[in-house]
Amino acid sequence: MIYLDNSATTKPCAEAVEAVAGALTRDWGNPSALYDFGISAARQLRTARHAVAAAMGAEPDRVFFTSCGTEADNWAVYGTAKRFGKRGKHIVTTAMEHHAILNCMKDLEAQGFEVTYLQPDALGNISADALKAALRKDTILVSVMMVNNEAGSVMPIAQMAKLTHRLCPDAIFHTDAVQGFLKIPFQAKTLGADLISVSSHKIHGPKGAGALYISPRLKSFPPLIQGGGQEGGYRSGTEGTPALFGFAAAAEAGGKTFREDIARERGLLENLCAQLEALPGVQLNGAHDAPHILSVSIPGVPTQNSINILQDAGICVSAGSACAKGHRSHVLTAMGVSEKAIDSAFRVSLSRETTQEDIDALVWTIRENILPRI
Ligand code: PLP
Repeated sequence: MIYLDNSATTKPCAEAVEAVAGALTRDWGNPSALYDFGISAARQLRTARHAVAAAMGAEPDRVFFTSCGTEADNWAVYGTAKRFGKRGKHIVTTAMEHHAILNCMKDLEAQGFEVTYLQPDALGNISADALKAALRKDTILVSVMMVNNEAGSVMPIAQMAKLTHRLCPDAIFHTDAVQGFLKIPFQAKTLGADLISVSSHKIHGPKGAGALYISPRLKSFPPLIQGGGQEGGYRSGTEGTPALFGFAAAAEAGGKTFREDIARERGLLENLCAQLEALPGVQLNGAHDAPHILSVSIPGVPTQNSINILQDAGICVSAGSACAKGHRSHVLTAMGVSEKAIDSAFRVSLSRETTQEDIDALVWTIRENILPRI
């Protein structure tokens, strides 16, 4: 199998698999228990939090584990609305967020909040100036993704966070960094965002783990789940140690090599772009400034046909975002991509496992088996 759908999920790395197995077979104690077996699990959980925090450039005591990126996103949005909703009812986000954000916004609109959706340009970029024009006195939350999961565009998060805090000192700035974590260098401590969402299974960790960074600027934040007081009282429930230890192992392994990894991925993506640009009938969508995401259209060949042809050649790519099955991509629509191009779009996404041979096989299959269908 040639796996080129790494923005949907990544192959768990050996370190993560070993950590998950260890937590299931050896270190399966309850971290809240008061005997040595439990205390040892609590110690490992602390180590895991330090590892994820180190990869994020965060203070360990400000990293709170969740079950996935979607949960972190929901917590950020609903928590802010709950905490600050009395002060103001205005929220700014973008028209090309993941549905983990957009559907929360729709729900909040139904509850009386007013949401401004910043529109991307043709490449999927959104400028800090566009945000500046949208900020208001009653803005309580700005939520902008770090990397768009279809266009591969990278938002100027540090600049946007700074601007938000300057013009709306009481507003909260959240970034969904699910596609940016270990792909775009950032340090949570200095980025300026108050809330940052990340996910384990996008960085070669297991599914079932994510985290929300809550900056020390936010002295208190509404808990996500009430109960026995785990995660500092923010997210109760016995910690899912297998997934969390796996997440930490993946973050630690990824953190060691990510600068070389992203340089390599960027080289492969540039090579892919150059090869595809040379093929008449292929259209590349979006900025693809991130090292790992490329949206490709072959107008005239429906997305599903291309996916089937690639699958027959053993190649996995996705129809835009895997999370938006059956709908015309809201991201490409917001970018003003033509309907014909949207209906033939698929996303290629790379990881540190991707090789030049994978890229060449993809290009060969497109040239030999898809383009003749136009
Ligand atoms: N945010 C973005 C930008 C994503 O790409 C995804 C997943 O594709 C998510 C959030 C959701 O993450 P998870 O699958 O961990 O819930």
